[in-house]
Formats: sequence, structure tokens, C-alpha cells
Amino acid sequence: MAIEIKTLDELKVMRRAGLLVGQTLELLRASVKVGMRTDALDAIAAANIKRGGGTSNFNGYHGFRGTICVSLNDEIVHGIPGDRVIEDGDIVSIDAGAIIDGWHGDSAISIGVGKVDPADQKLMDVCEESMWRGIAAGSSGVRLSNIGHAIEEYVKSQGKYGILREYGGHGIGTEMHMEPHILNFGKKGFGPEIAPGMALAIEPMITRGTHKTRVLKDDWTVVSMDESHGAHFEHTYCIAPDGKPFVLTSLDGGRMQLAGLGISVSELLE
Ligand code: MG
Ligand code: MG
Repeated sequence: MAIEIKTLDELKVMRRAGLLVGQTLELLRASVKVGMRTDALDAIAAANIKRGGGTSNFNGYHGFRGTICVSLNDEIVHGIPGDRVIEDGDIVSIDAGAIIDGWHGDSAISIGVGKVDPADQKLMDVCEESMWRGIAAGSSGVRLSNIGHAIEEYVKSQGKYGILREYGGHGIGTEMHMEPHILNFGKKGFGPEIAPGMALAIEPMITRGTHKTRVLKDDWTVVSMDESHGAHFEHTYCIAPDGKPFVLTSLDGGRMQLAGLGISVSELLE
């Protein structure tokens, strides 16, 4: 299937959805505390998405129950909100999404709560920076695999981390998960050419140990096979009609982070 190409007006609606997702994640970052149940975070997210005029793209997705995914420590992605209580030092990975007027946003952050192991903090920092490197590498006119190559190259330069292989980024727009699938590793110069009007969700998932994972009996939660801690960051970005990127789920459109990597963002989506 061809990759969906959006008009500027469609990207502007995607920006509204993306901003709502970004604001919801910032609210969750400010709300998360030791002693809180993960379903309390879910309730905050649900209320905020509703208040912002959006609907959840996670709730009901292949039967998923929850507005967000909350994954702790060795859980890396797809954790189901519930009665689990957040403890001091936990890594809390939150994946959130929203739909506005039929257009999707998707973004994730990992947060260290309380007194965090410095090695866990570094894991999260490496994961987040690798996401920005991936976005910076995914400019207009380059091949798709340059994104995963940049992510892998950066992660490997920072230490011995496992990069998940069964999960990756994706195209996004009128659906949450669309063509193309985006690996978080690999060689440069393969796959379709990135072009104006494309929107892509870039989401590295890494662990302090193995890249191998298994799914818990709840059929959703993805944990590392060796119980090493994991981190997950995600942003949805697009290539605007002027050929410049814009990070739809970042509050500042990715301006600050991408400037640090020598990339200027589009002015068309302000
Ligand atoms: Mg996501
Ligand atoms: Mg995603």
C-alpha cells in the first residue's frame, strides 16, 4: 500500500491531535508519583483528551482497554493501566494517542519516578536522544531506513543496550498504524523516499540488556526476556509542504531539539 500523503490543511488537523497528545503527556509527567495506581494516570489522560475535543485511539484498539499504555521497569511497551502501584525508582513508560476530526497523534515518554538508578536515567536519556537523531535523519528526500540507522548508531555509541526488533515506528494519519513500518536499526539507503506530506511516528524501544522480548499472559504487556529495564520514547513528525520537518506531538514542534542537531523546523504549522 502507498504511504498516505497529507495536504497542509490535513497536517494542521494532525497538529491539533498531536498537540493534545503532547499536552496530555506533560500533564501525566507532572502528575505521576510514588504510590499512584497506573489506572489513575489513565483517568487523567482520558479526561484531558476529552477536554481537548479528542477521542482515544488506544481504547478498544484490538480490544485494548485503556486510554494510555503504562509500562513499568522491565515492561517496555503496551502495559495495561490497572491496580499496579508505582514505586520509588520505577521507570514509567507512557504511550498516549488521540484522534481529532479523524486524524491521529501518537507519542510516548519514559519517566523516572522518585530516586532513579543513574543507569536507568541514562537508558531513558539514550532512548530519547536516539528518537531525536532518528527524526533528524528522516528528512525529505532520504530513504526511510536512514531513520533506523541513525537510531541504532547513536544507541550503540552510548553503551550495550538492546534495541527491540519486533516493534518499531510507523506511518500515521487517518489511522494510527499505517504503512510504512519503521525499523529502529539497519543500514542506510533502503526503503521508500521520505517526501512532503508524510507523517511518521518514530519510537525507539531499548533495554539495558537483551533485545529479546515476550508478551505477558494479559496478551499485551511486552517485557524484556532477561528482565532488564526498558525505555520508550515516541513522537509523530511530518514533512511539511516546504520540505521541512515539524514534530506534531512536541509542544514546540521539535524546534529546540532539532536545532541542536542542525535542523530547522517548518513555519507552516505554527
Ligand atoms: Mg505510541
Ligand atoms: Mg506508535
